[in-house]
Amino acid sequence: MFRSLIFVSLLLCGTSLTFAEEQWQAGVARVAITPGAPMWMAGYASRKKPAEGTLAELYAKALVLEAGENRVVFVTTDLIGIPRTLAVNVSQRVKEKYKLPRKSLLFNASHTHCGPELRPERDYFYGMAEAEAKQIGVYTEKLETALVELIGAALADLQPATLSYAKSTADFSKNRRFPTDEGFVNRQYNEGPTNHDVPVLQVFSPAGERRAILFGYACHNTSTGIMQFNGDYAGFAQSDIEKDFPGVTALFVEGTGGDQNPYPRGKIELARQHGRKLADAVKRAVHEPQQPLPPAIDSAFTEVELEFEPLPPRAALEADVESKNVYRQRKSRYLLGKLDRKEPIALTYPCPIQAIRIGETLVMVAIGGEVVVDYSRLVKSTFRSVPFVWVAGYSNDVFGYLPSARVLAEGGYEAGGAMLYGPLPGPFTGSVQDRVMAGVRRVGTDVGFSFPKSLEQQQ
Ligand SMILES: [Zn+2]
Repeated sequence: MFRSLIFVSLLLCGTSLTFAEEQWQAGVARVAITPGAPMWMAGYASRKKPAEGTLAELYAKALVLEAGENRVVFVTTDLIGIPRTLAVNVSQRVKEKYKLPRKSLLFNASHTHCGPELRPERDYFYGMAEAEAKQIGVYTEKLETALVELIGAALADLQPATLSYAKSTADFSKNRRFPTDEGFVNRQYNEGPTNHDVPVLQVFSPAGERRAILFGYACHNTSTGIMQFNGDYAGFAQSDIEKDFPGVTALFVEGTGGDQNPYPRGKIELARQHGRKLADAVKRAVHEPQQPLPPAIDSAFTEVELEFEPLPPRAALEADVESKNVYRQRKSRYLLGKLDRKEPIALTYPCPIQAIRIGETLVMVAIGGEVVVDYSRLVKSTFRSVPFVWVAGYSNDVFGYLPSARVLAEGGYEAGGAMLYGPLPGPFTGSVQDRVMAGVRRVGTDVGFSFPKSLEQQQ
């Protein structure tokens, strides 16, 4: 039944005359977002103090692509994640200021573990002092305005462009779910699934000058945990590409790297080395024969409600208060506090899902959360008839891990273990993958693709 997947080109089926006359407009902009004041870093709960200076600048960058009436803004960031509230606030301000609908905005985070902590309530889970916790609000407020202005700057930069696509690979990303008799542990596992694709979208001026390179990779941005701000391998890859191609803006899109780590890891030199490898992969793609992309773009955005398992009984939470594990203590106190204050504990969470379609050739599907690598395969098989399928994770919200049915059933850190370090009640119920893939098909349909009804059973 897969073979009967029909490729419907609603977007392109306007008059051919209009199509021929249209051309791409593209704009780029960047803003440095490295905190000016000492702040806690995000990603490793074991850190006990704020960052100690800056090794490499952190950036937010924007690329606007416009064809005809439609625009999409790719906003990429050297951050652990864009929290939902921040994405919602920026989207609202951008809608009012620039008339851009939500579906036209994609926020992606590189998931560097050497950027500032900006996720709600992590101050409690990390044990920050009150004054340190306040910095999160101060930083986030400034970042919100910086992102709105960044998008405005990219829109102001719109000028005629041509686009092309090519793909390469890099192999430093490895599966990190190592099976043992006691369950899955976080260690290099060469037998586990990976996705080594390096998708590369290039933007040129009509005269052929290269202006921007949007590229992706599916791997945790965790070569190191040093105490100085830096963008890890993805940050070094972007700065290397910008050195390799002077005048270019390089924008990194984190893929389905939820259960993938860069190996070897543990030293800042390795972050630079992996960054160079990724920049070299991009360079190879740039020199490959290019797939020209015709000027046609459309996007769609939705949210699917993911379900959590019911909370543990109160007695179990009370027992955890006495745990020797400080994180287990904090989590049980957090949940018991909410119960005692009669505050609602939501047992669902809205996961954002977005599709960006470029002509007949390329579709990018961007999913919220720390998306595990299985979703690359699942999304690609859903869009089987599209030549190039780019699957982004860490998009529009990074609420926590997004396990596939396989990972959820296997258990371990990405299946729910990681929820100990944050506010989600977790783990997700067994419906998580079906709900996400239903959302993927919904946004796919909204941008003009159609899927056979039997697809659900076949995944
Ligand atoms: Zn992570």
